[in-house]
Formats: sequence, C-alpha cells, structure tokens
Amino acid sequence: MNKNNWHLWLLAAAIALVALLPLPDFWIVQLNYIGLYALVCLGLVLLTGVGGLTSFGQAAFVGIGAYTTAWLTLNTGLSPWLTLWVGLAITAVSALLVGAITLRMSGHYLPLATIAWGLSLYYLMGNLQVLGKYDGLQGLASLSIGDTEIKGRWFFVLTWSILLAGAIAMLNLLDSRPGRAIRSLKGGSQMAEAMGINTFRYKVTIFLIAALLASTGGWLLAHFQLTVNPSAFGLKMGIEYLFMTVVGGVGYVWGAIVGAGLIKLLDDYLQVALPALIGTSGSYEVIVFGIAMVLVLKYMPDGLWSMVSAYLPRATRRVDWQGAKELPTRQKPSQGESVLAVQQVRKQFGGLVAVNDISFDIAAGQIVGLIGPNGAGKSTTFNLITGLLSKTSGQVLFRGQDISGLRSREIARQGMARTFQHVKMIADMTVLENVALGAYTRSRGGVLSSMLRANRAEEQSLMKEAQRQLERIGMGEYLHEQAGNLAMGPQRLMEIARALCCDPALLLLDEPAAGLRHQEKQALIQVLRQLQSEGMTLLLVEHDMDLVMQVCDHLVVMEFGTLLTQGTPAEIQASPAVRAAYLGTEH
Ligand code: ADP
Ligand code: MG
Repeated sequence: MNKNNWHLWLLAAAIALVALLPLPDFWIVQLNYIGLYALVCLGLVLLTGVGGLTSFGQAAFVGIGAYTTAWLTLNTGLSPWLTLWVGLAITAVSALLVGAITLRMSGHYLPLATIAWGLSLYYLMGNLQVLGKYDGLQGLASLSIGDTEIKGRWFFVLTWSILLAGAIAMLNLLDSRPGRAIRSLKGGSQMAEAMGINTFRYKVTIFLIAALLASTGGWLLAHFQLTVNPSAFGLKMGIEYLFMTVVGGVGYVWGAIVGAGLIKLLDDYLQVALPALIGTSGSYEVIVFGIAMVLVLKYMPDGLWSMVSAYLPRATRRVDWQGAKELPTRQKPSQGESVLAVQQVRKQFGGLVAVNDISFDIAAGQIVGLIGPNGAGKSTTFNLITGLLSKTSGQVLFRGQDISGLRSREIARQGMARTFQHVKMIADMTVLENVALGAYTRSRGGVLSSMLRANRAEEQSLMKEAQRQLERIGMGEYLHEQAGNLAMGPQRLMEIARALCCDPALLLLDEPAAGLRHQEKQALIQVLRQLQSEGMTLLLVEHDMDLVMQVCDHLVVMEFGTLLTQGTPAEIQASPAVRAAYLGTEH
C-alpha cells in the first residue's frame, strides 16, 4: 500500500472499528453478508467492469466453493481450512474448462453461455442425491482455530480481511503490466494483440480469478450459514451479483463493496416492505430490481462509485523511476540492410482482389510511403504485413525471416510496431500508462507477482521507458493526462510513442495525418523527420500528399489493388500515370 491508497487504510481502520464497537448482532450479520457478496462482486469488477466480459454465472462458482466444503467437512471430517483449497482447485478446473469453451465467443454469446452454465449447475446441485437435492446439506461446523469458533464479530473480521486483501491484490494487479493488458481487452483485441498481448489468455485468467473469488465467497457463506442449498447459487443470485456490481460501479474496486452493501440492505427492506404495501406475499423485490437495473444501466452506467470518485483527489503517479534499470533492447538492423520484403502478396475478399500480387522492399533507415486513392488496397496491404489479415498468397520477410504465417502479436514480438488509422487507446488510463503498454513484449511481470507487488522494479523500468519515448517526441508534458482528454494530434503522437516503446526495427504508421489540424501536422512532420535522423525505418500509409512528399525517401503507389509504380517523391510527382490516378483526383 502506498500513500495513494489511503482509502485502503481507511477500510482497514473501519474493519477494526466495527469489530470493537458494540454493534447489535443484526448488523454484524448484515455486514458479514455484505462482505462475502462483495468478494464475489470484486471478481465481477475485474471480469465485467475492467475486462468487458459479462457473466451471469458467478453464483455457480459460489456454489462450487460452498458445496465442496459442505460435503467434505460433513462426510470426510476434513478441516474447513483444507477444504477451502479443494474447493478452489475444483473451481479452477471448472473455470478453465468453461472458459476455454466460452471465452472465444463474442458479443452476446458469452453472457448467454454463462446463463446456461449457471442454470445447469443449479439443477445439478438440486438433483444430486449426495448433495441433498433441493434441501441441500445441513449441520456444518463453524470455522475454528483450535477450540475457538470463528463466529459473529470474528467471522466479520475474517471475511472483511479476506475482502481487504482481495481489494489490495486487485488494485495492485490493475496498476501493473498484466493489469494494463487486462484493461486493454475491452477495446477489442486488435490493439492489444498488436502490442504483443495474448488476449485469450488474459480473458481466461480474469475468468479464473473471478471464479476463485466467488468460490472463496461460497466457502465463507457455507461456514456462516452452516447450511447450503441450491437457491443461493441459482441464476437469480447470479443476476443479483451482477446487479450489485453494476449499481456500485462495475469499473471500480470500491464499487463492489458499495453495491453489495446497498443491494443487500435494499433487498432486505423491500422483502418486508413490498408485501406489506401490496397486501399479499411474494418476491416483489425481484421486479423492483429488474426495473432498477434497466434504469441504472441507462442513466448511470458507471455506477454509484463513479460519482463518488469524481470528488476524490486523483492519484498522480510520483515520478521516481529515474534510477530504474533500462529495459532490454533488441539488435537493430544496420543501415541499408533489408528490413521488409513484401513478395507477391495477394488478398481476395470473395471475388474482389483487394491486393493484387504486390511486391516492394524497405531497407533499414528508409521512410517509405504507401500511397494511392481511396480503396486502392493500402490498409489491406498494411494489415497483411502486420498479420491482422491472412494472405491469400505471397510472402512477407521481416529482417530475412518469413513471417507470413505469424499472428500480429508474434510479429510484434519480432520488433514490428504499428499505429492505427483510427486511434486505439485506453481512454481512462493516463498517457504514460497507455504508452507503457507498447513495451509489453520487453517485460515479463505476471499476474501473481503483480498482485503481490513483487514487480515494482520492472514497473519502474516500464514507466521510465514510457516517459523517455514520450519526451523523445515532445510529449513530455502530457504524462499524467487522461488519454481520452487529448486532442487528435497528441493522440496520434501518443500512439507513435507507444509503438516506439516496443523498441521496433520497423515502425508502421497508418494514416498518421488523418484528422490533424495544420499545426498538429507540422508537429507530426517534425517527429517523423527526427525519427528519420535517428535512423528509424518507417512505412507510412498516407493520404496527405504534402506530408508524404516532405518526409518519404521512397514511394509505392497503388491503384485498384495493383502496384502502379514506385520511386522517389520527385519521380512520382513527375509521373503522368500517378497524376491521372491519384493527384488528379486529390484536389
Ligand atoms: P485503402 O486503404 O487504400 O483505402 P482498403 O485496403 O481499405 O483501401 O480497401 C481495398 C478494397 O478492399 C476496397 O475495395 C474495399 O472495399 C475492399 N475491402 C477491404 N476490406 C474488406 C473486407 N474485410 N471485406 C471485403 N472487402 C474489403
Ligand atoms: Mg485505408
């Protein structure tokens, strides 16, 4: 915990205070429920809020944790302190299985799959004789240390300590190399993969972490209620966990606690108040929650905590990494060496030949411009080189190695970095953090070490590198700015800094001048000239003839998917064919 995490200290103090205060038992019970619900919601914050994967199935993982400990302690006499780990192991295996099948699904299929999975586990629990069918299992023992039972206040301290530890681990994780990778998932996989990130692996990882948190919640629940039955783990609870998280603020670790507290208390209140109001008994609160969920999603999609956090002081990162170790660098090609050889590359979309057997070369230190009218096939060529699209035929050699069959993240690892025609960034991260994402392949800190904050030395190196690259292109004053607040010009420069963080042997820019104002364009030209003087090799896809003529050494002109001609800017400008195809239509 550093001083930016003062609210963690506050929570720790609050836990100690509540334990000492003479609160009525009723409130201790409520707080125990809130604590273990919040633990489940904490997982949903990571999975749904940060990672963008919606799950209605968390209650099923709570059930696995609860039933495992219930059955084992009742039937084998194992200590609950051991069955916790058995439950976590069974949860991990199930989560990995379910995750491997469902996490490749996109859009609405994943939430639907989690509903199906939640339902089937509920009916499984309800129909298994050994699990007591719908009556469940009764007569569990309380947790105990030696002869002392952990009940009431002590159970509160245990639950909330686990929650606090989980929150700390989560905040540590989110502020780290794998955390930034996880935060990049929500924007679609293209940018993350281009940074060298295996997005599927991270999706499985956060699914697993969320499931383990839910399972721990289930273990606590079992030894709190001393009985388990399927109704606590059905789809209704799965929806309620998601609702708690959404109301609290699905993107915020503290939202988990706020949401769990609010919904638990409201739920209890409505269960009594509504039947009294209406005059007949029934679960009317479900209807109220359904309507409230729609309203919250519509009018307050970031939840309650977003409103609280707007008034909290923004934590700025202390710049204390001057002494950090440099990240490893790669061997650069020597001047004039072949960096890229595009050989007879072809792409067909059905009957349309978007790229028709294109060939060109780039030598180290060259700035090559790929130009042509709209629809000529420039972006497609760019995507074939960077591995975003697969080629119909042809080869691409990068530094003499055939990279034709590699995925974009593998190509990034080899030292080819890119920007996007439409800027892709994580709007709610600072410029510095966005740029640090570019150095992903040059670092190795994993999830566990990040949670334990054992990755600090490497984090410092990453921040130092990000700052260096930002200063290199004159963006030094924007370090702590939210990326989403930047104007278009600085956004594009930020993407270039992020690509430079990869320590690339070849930098590819897709329409870097698109949408820039005059002054921003001048700043971009300045940066490109500077990179050229530093010996950087660049491929530029660009519409803006003026810019291309100013900075490129060599131009490749495409028209209708074919290579029209190539040569120096002067030669291209003088070519009648190019004039007819491109320059003529440009003005
Ligand atoms: P440019 O970047 O030069 O403007 P593109 O490479 O985007 O051109 O497009 C080249 C041609 O390929 C266009 O006719 C476009 O409509 C077509 N095209 C591009 N992507 C696809 C796709 N995913 N499916 C079908 N056609 C595509
Ligand atoms: Mg294009």
